[in-house]
Amino acid sequence: MTSAGRFAPSPSGELHVGNLRTAILAWLFARSTGRRFLMRVEDLDRARAGAEAEQLRDLAAIGVTWDGGVVRQTERGPLYTETVRRLAAAGLTYECFCTRREIQEAPSAPHAPQGAYPGTCRNLDQAEIEFKRTIRPAAVRLRAAVADWTVHDLLHGTYTGVVDDFVLRRNDGVTAYNLAVVVDDAAQGIDQVVRGDDLLASTPRQAYLASLLHIPVPEYAHVPLVVNSDGVRLAKRDGAVTLSDLAAAGLDAGRVRDIILDSLGLPAGPLPTALAVFDPARLPRDAWVWPGTVRAGA
Ligand code: GLU
Repeated sequence: MTSAGRFAPSPSGELHVGNLRTAILAWLFARSTGRRFLMRVEDLDRARAGAEAEQLRDLAAIGVTWDGGVVRQTERGPLYTETVRRLAAAGLTYECFCTRREIQEAPSAPHAPQGAYPGTCRNLDQAEIEFKRTIRPAAVRLRAAVADWTVHDLLHGTYTGVVDDFVLRRNDGVTAYNLAVVVDDAAQGIDQVVRGDDLLASTPRQAYLASLLHIPVPEYAHVPLVVNSDGVRLAKRDGAVTLSDLAAAGLDAGRVRDIILDSLGLPAGPLPTALAVFDPARLPRDAWVWPGTVRAGA
């Protein structure tokens, strides 16, 4: 299988300029390194009817092309189930019955980093497990043997972050993102992951899981986010931030593409023009403030 990059949107609504900028970057990284570029719809959670079609339409409108068909995570359940089964057979999982509130209120283990699962269900005996099963369904957690893991990122360099006993399958049966992303990237031959740098903190968990599954860890590039004038990650509430809103305000898709390219120090026009001069070493390293959110008087 030849190497590939990808874009993996969650179809929760229309893409905004921050998502579109990340998609352009993922495309540039993949194409500039001779990789295929794949499109994966991460619809396990938060999917809204019609959003996938809108997202694919908008990606095409700014010139992001992909190879082959679209892969949807909801069509890949057996692959995730089989992976959890393998991990369980290797003694690398356990059932967790904690509610969100119980986790928040549990005293954290000594030296455990903030936000890490406190390990409440890690060592339940069989009688306790069977009793708890009568109360609520279990989530499945990874039995991690490390507290942190180090990854290499093309933009952030060496990055070490928390690995806790993270959830692999939620107690409603839905496969967790951290499992699905690792399984899918490997199954699709993806060896380059370019995505927003809000996901950098999850990356050590994913790379550690890949190592347990004997899956090669992809090359990572976590790219700066787009923020509003308050420095907060751009969101729909920030006004006209989707292609349809911007079109209504008089900016067509080509113009939005050019504004995004300009923010990256790249020439305007169809993406192959930018590709010809794309150099990751020269990318801006800071978040980009979307000019449309500069409020009157600001
Ligand atoms: N589906 C995730 C999102 O839209 C991206 C996951 C990834 O690129 O690994 O935020």
